[in-house]
Amino acid sequence: MSTPTFLNYINGEWVGGAATFENRNPANTDEIVGLFAKGTAQDMAAAAEAASNAFPAWSAMPGPARGNILFKAADIMEKKFDQLGEEMTREEGKTLPEAKGEVRRTINIFRYFGSEGSRLPGYVVPSERDRVHMFAIRKAIGVVGLVTPWNFPSAIPAWKLAPALICGNTAIVKPASAAPLSAWRIVEALHEAGAPKGVVNFIAGSGGELGRALVEAKGLKAISFTGSCQIGEWLHGEASKRRLRIQLEMGGKNPTIVCADADFNSAVENVVNAAFFSTGQKCTATSRAIVDEAIYDRFVQALVERTAKLKVGNGMEPGVHIGPAVDQGQLDTVLHYIEVGKKEAGAPKIGGNRLTGGDYDKGYFVEPTIFADVTEEMVIAKEEIFGPVLAVMKAKNFQDALRIANNSPFGLSASVQTTNVANTFDFVYGMEAGLITVNLPSAGVEYQLPFGGTKESSFGPKEQGPAALDFYSDYKTIYLKY
Ligand code: NAP
Repeated sequence: MSTPTFLNYINGEWVGGAATFENRNPANTDEIVGLFAKGTAQDMAAAAEAASNAFPAWSAMPGPARGNILFKAADIMEKKFDQLGEEMTREEGKTLPEAKGEVRRTINIFRYFGSEGSRLPGYVVPSERDRVHMFAIRKAIGVVGLVTPWNFPSAIPAWKLAPALICGNTAIVKPASAAPLSAWRIVEALHEAGAPKGVVNFIAGSGGELGRALVEAKGLKAISFTGSCQIGEWLHGEASKRRLRIQLEMGGKNPTIVCADADFNSAVENVVNAAFFSTGQKCTATSRAIVDEAIYDRFVQALVERTAKLKVGNGMEPGVHIGPAVDQGQLDTVLHYIEVGKKEAGAPKIGGNRLTGGDYDKGYFVEPTIFADVTEEMVIAKEEIFGPVLAVMKAKNFQDALRIANNSPFGLSASVQTTNVANTFDFVYGMEAGLITVNLPSAGVEYQLPFGGTKESSFGPKEQGPAALDFYSDYKTIYLKY
């Protein structure tokens, strides 16, 4: 079978270029999932022009009519559900059940925001003055640029694109080069659903080149970015020069506190799930387990025993729990931090190696790795690794654990495992994170509530849930004397 080529999408047309780049399967690097047209700065400028031209009609369309296009796109993706899941596993490496769960989430996100088209809530309030009617309506802001990472290659483009479009904006999607196909499928679905030309545009290619072209694009009004802190910071600087609205979702070093009173077995499950599933490549993954000293030794042992049962392999195979790292660069980063961890904390309690031999040689597989007795000043307790590496730390009591958990510049997600109500509420109010879970893994969010971090993890309004509309719309306030 010949390798398919996926073109960029500008002004309702699929457009190619001279150059392409490869999207390879990280579980089997012999397999090219697809070739993608390598977008250029000229493509970005053309996409911005198309999106500007499409904006007046799209933003004037009634919200429910825009919603119908989102519903149709959801139905189209639903029909291809199995295919989309399999493609995601092949391009990103996560297991098939995880990939299908993400496709389900994308479909749900499109339906959720499709129905926002018939709400788009504003305000109507009583005036102090006689016979004055006061209200505020939401207005679209214009052309928005959406820059997304590879780790949730479908859900993240969806949770930016769907609210952007329903508010009446037009969009340019720039997916991650490591996994562009899942976002491409969303754009294809919108095309088939009848989105007018120019409303959505898709440009794959080098982030450095396209990022520069995006911030300079004529008519651009806002950028929503998910990815690394380094790129987010650069984008923020560039966007500020042009007074672009910007939303940044970036890194984390998420803690899970395990109290002595926790339901022990479920705490073990939750920590292992949050640390290792999706190969630890979730922005909400647990990378620090902070355990009360009263149960510390027993808990570390139980974590190791549970982790030993995890099967690493090609995510397409049944029974595999953990897929590969997404690419060579990510694998190298993980192996680098494992070496740092060995120097700082000694030999890991489990894992610590790249997996080799047989089919492992064709992919970027690494053992789930646990370091114990990690202390606050160690690099592996401070820096984001974004792989299946867990640092276990000992705390004197709950308050000490909370202090350690907050000793980080990041504040994305955080979890506590406890049966104590006072600890629960101290954590809810005292933990510096945008997303809190109690007796659940730190990762695994739904789309109906606001999502995003605090401190250096995030900047700007939250994504998802009703709050997502705030970034993608402005209020227009009307005072009307009758
Ligand atoms: P990344 O390297 O920052 O890339 C993210 C996106 O930015 C990609 O599309 C990339 O394109 C693009 N990009 C690269 N250079 C750019 C530039 N100069 N201007 C504009 N765009 C540019 O991050 P990643 O490695 O894909 O993702 C991992 C990071 O994302 C982790 O730090 C993780 O914590 C974070 N993340 C955060 C959340 C959250 O919600 N907080 C969710 C998921 C992931 P190329 O692929 O072509 O380089």
